[in-house]
Amino acid sequence: VNRFDVIVVGGGSAGCALAARLSEDASRSVLLIEAGPVPRALGEYPADLLDAGSVRGADPGHPDNWAFDATLAAGRPYSIARGRILGGSSTINGGYFIRPRKSDFDRWSADGNAEWSFDANLPFLRALESDAQYGSTDTHGGAGPVVVSRPRQDHPVSVAFAAAAERLGFAVETDKNAQAPPGVGAVPMDVAAGIRWNSGLAYIEPILDRENLTVLGDTLVLRVLFEGPRAVGVETAGGDFEAGEVVLCAGSVKSPHLLMLSGVGPRVALERFGVPVVSDLPGVGSGFSDHPQVSVEWRQKVDTVDFDGETTMASALNFSSEGSPVPGDLEILPMLKPMAYLTSGQRVAGPLAFLVSVQNGRSRGAITLSSADPRVQPTIDYRYLSFDLDRRMMREAVRTAESLLVSTPFASLFGGFVSLPVAASDAELDRWIDDNLGTSIHLCGSARFGARGDADAVVDQYGRVFGVSGLRVADTSILPTAPVRGPAVAAILVGERVASFIRSAPLR
Ligand SMILES: Cc1cc2nc3c(=O)[nH]c(=O)nc-3n(C[C@H](O)[C@H](O)[C@H](O)COP(=O)(O)OP(=O)(O)OC[C@H]3O[C@@H](n4cnc5c(N)ncnc54)[C@H](O)[C@@H]3O)c2cc1C
Repeated sequence: VNRFDVIVVGGGSAGCALAARLSEDASRSVLLIEAGPVPRALGEYPADLLDAGSVRGADPGHPDNWAFDATLAAGRPYSIARGRILGGSSTINGGYFIRPRKSDFDRWSADGNAEWSFDANLPFLRALESDAQYGSTDTHGGAGPVVVSRPRQDHPVSVAFAAAAERLGFAVETDKNAQAPPGVGAVPMDVAAGIRWNSGLAYIEPILDRENLTVLGDTLVLRVLFEGPRAVGVETAGGDFEAGEVVLCAGSVKSPHLLMLSGVGPRVALERFGVPVVSDLPGVGSGFSDHPQVSVEWRQKVDTVDFDGETTMASALNFSSEGSPVPGDLEILPMLKPMAYLTSGQRVAGPLAFLVSVQNGRSRGAITLSSADPRVQPTIDYRYLSFDLDRRMMREAVRTAESLLVSTPFASLFGGFVSLPVAASDAELDRWIDDNLGTSIHLCGSARFGARGDADAVVDQYGRVFGVSGLRVADTSILPTAPVRGPAVAAILVGERVASFIRSAPLR
């Protein structure tokens, strides 16, 4: 009974999609193991996590948040939220559901990774969604598991934001899930009637009675079991499970962590903790990217907040930094409710924020083993803003946020900044950025794919781990870089794609 064709480790954005698609084939037995709880119906999810009008799962004290300790830059410790419940981070995230851009696929598919071209992925992007506005078209899907809708644009902040962006000369981007040039427009969200439609609800809840699918909650996978270089199963706190193939979908922190705990990673680092080396792969954990973010808080002249509003945000401005090689490498997201409310649910008046981020920085971080004990988290070092270019981009993004807020369309709403120094010198602004540095929590690329012979690649374009057999990684870890928009769609796409790769290979 403890043997399955495929074991999927982690029921998050990617893992739910993967397990659901794999088990469509009735001849394949699939075990999905999730460290956190597995709600078996909509009503079993904690109500605070279903509510798309707040992000209470992001609170470091929330029981369904892994809350990893990390360092963003020297002297800047930070708690990194990650969902620990069916649906993973899609159960606690902001609900912004924008596809990767064609430029992302062009970068990812370079150097022989043709499976990651835009054209190869468009059918899967359409298949994963039901777009409430567009339905089934050449661009959109009308029958997929994830409900996608665009919030109303009539909130006074959204109205002023669009007008201010246009006044500053930015384009209008009507459909952010199409490929028109970046600009200001509605944010597509995986939200239906105010409910955050996490990947557990989208993919797993409807198929829980499938005979060939077993879903095990509250079970921490401790390591992958090997016979020689062949993965043969997993060890959990509740016993061992055997499989023909193991797929790690534990997310971009825990997947590289599990690889290292299991002997797949940089030899010297593993030997330091007495972990026997199965495959010496220096790229495990290293070279990850994410989006550095600061929150520009502003006081309202008149209170526009509707605590009962169905989403936390409605629109975004995506725009290009000066001389940018990748279009749309900066982003501004106006929040419609006070930051303090968003993570606590406490209805107290407060300033609003523009979340301002650099979407294609050059800085790269590293996740390293800090113990051979699977319950001790790895060290997460972001090294944000370690290039002048990234600093310059962040300054430009913050100054654009300032220009939007002081422009005429905001005149009746904007009552001053909370802490941003107005018309600051570069040095003053850098100090403010350092003191306020945060992250979008979009970590990708900690076990990235690449061609055989690419020294830092951990998996091939099909997610197969180099140097071993029977083991894949399928989550945001394998994306070579964070997409220039959020990674929520990309995460599900990885699950869909790797399922299709496994289904087209013979059963072991
Ligand atoms: C607070 C927050 C807000 C965000 N907002 C947005 C947004 O608005 N838009 C956007 O595009 N992106 C957003 N993101 C990012 C996005 O949600 C993630 O990139 C994406 O969900 C990651 O998917 P994944 O499948 O790689 O990992 P996850 O969804 O994190 O899944 C990993 C799963 O594996 C499980 N797991 C881990 N280790 C083990 C183990 N040892 N044994 C068993 N199970 C294990 C975890 O519990 C989890 O369920 C946000 C993220 C957070 C945390």
